[in-house]
Amino acid sequence: MRSDFTQVLARVAEQGEPSLTEVVYLLRSEEADELEQLYAKARAIRDEYCGRRMVVRGLVEFSSYCKNSCNYCGLNRFNQGARRYRLSERDIFASADLIYRAGFRTIVLQSGEDAWPADQIAKIICEIKTRYDMAITLSVGERPKSDYKAWKDAGADRYLLRIESSDAALYQSLHQGRELKTRLKALEDLKDLGYQCGSGIMIGPPGQSLEHIAKDILYLIKQDFDMIGIGPFIPHPQTIYAHEKAGSLPITLKALALLRILSRNAWLPATTALGSLDRDYRVDALKAGANVLMPNFSPAEAKKNYEIYPNKRCIDECTEACPCSSGEIARAAGLKLDYSRADSLKPGFLGKID
Ligand code: SAH
Repeated sequence: MRSDFTQVLARVAEQGEPSLTEVVYLLRSEEADELEQLYAKARAIRDEYCGRRMVVRGLVEFSSYCKNSCNYCGLNRFNQGARRYRLSERDIFASADLIYRAGFRTIVLQSGEDAWPADQIAKIICEIKTRYDMAITLSVGERPKSDYKAWKDAGADRYLLRIESSDAALYQSLHQGRELKTRLKALEDLKDLGYQCGSGIMIGPPGQSLEHIAKDILYLIKQDFDMIGIGPFIPHPQTIYAHEKAGSLPITLKALALLRILSRNAWLPATTALGSLDRDYRVDALKAGANVLMPNFSPAEAKKNYEIYPNKRCIDECTEACPCSSGEIARAAGLKLDYSRADSLKPGFLGKID
């Protein structure tokens, strides 16, 4: 007789469309043998639907200015202690050059919600596209659809915008004066414009229950995102959540495995937050179904000052040191390192398994 856990897992993995109760049940397990079943299933599904590989994307954090008010984030506008910077275009191109020369074929441009004019960002996108054969992913927050369109027209391929929570009340408690529906509208605009879209959540910010996480997982799966980022909440000392507990590592890994099992072929990063707890857990994430690594290519000063949470992985390493460890991380997880663009594997996009 198979245990309840084995039965529920088999049903969910084979037939999909789990109930909220089933997701909560799977997230609740703490038995080592059950967790190993969950991770093994996630790995098998990843290998079948995405290939046995870890793809790399090069990250550039180009501005730490932010007009937003996310309670958890060290860059929120109320943090007077945050060190604000904007990279010059020259610095951005220097990072792009490093990324390209390291062999990567995707650059991720991330920033706070800076008021950087849309046409200037479009110019930078255009220039990177002209100089390099690379996919461009943007992660710069909520903007009017016209800005998203200008950037798409300039050559941007992908966009990352986490929902943070699919529950309107929890969303509001995490973001002063902001509403979930604005975030959802932005994601709808991005999809409508043909971007490959990534979303996601943090695990463990104040007020989040296991039911919230289960609801988020079902929402992210229903939306069929091309990429889903998930990492533990890490309290930042200069925010109102300074004394809150960090998100749970086991729950993060279980949620990641479930996202793999249910999404089949979404790109799932082993996030930097997972690398920034008491030790680096990114290999554990890859062993639980993740398949993307995003080494940081920002200039050393920027890496330090782009402090969304403290003790970010890699800030003490020189720019070139991070990508060098990608090979070791992939090897430790039993995956092949893949430098390709790795477009969305969803129907209608160009990603494929070789
Ligand atoms: N301004 C952009 C990029 C935000 S930073 C945007 O709005 O999308 C990228 C992600 O880091 C956020 O979406 C959030 O989920 C995560 N993050 C922010 N602060 C964090 C913290 N203290 N701990 C863990 N993750 C955090």
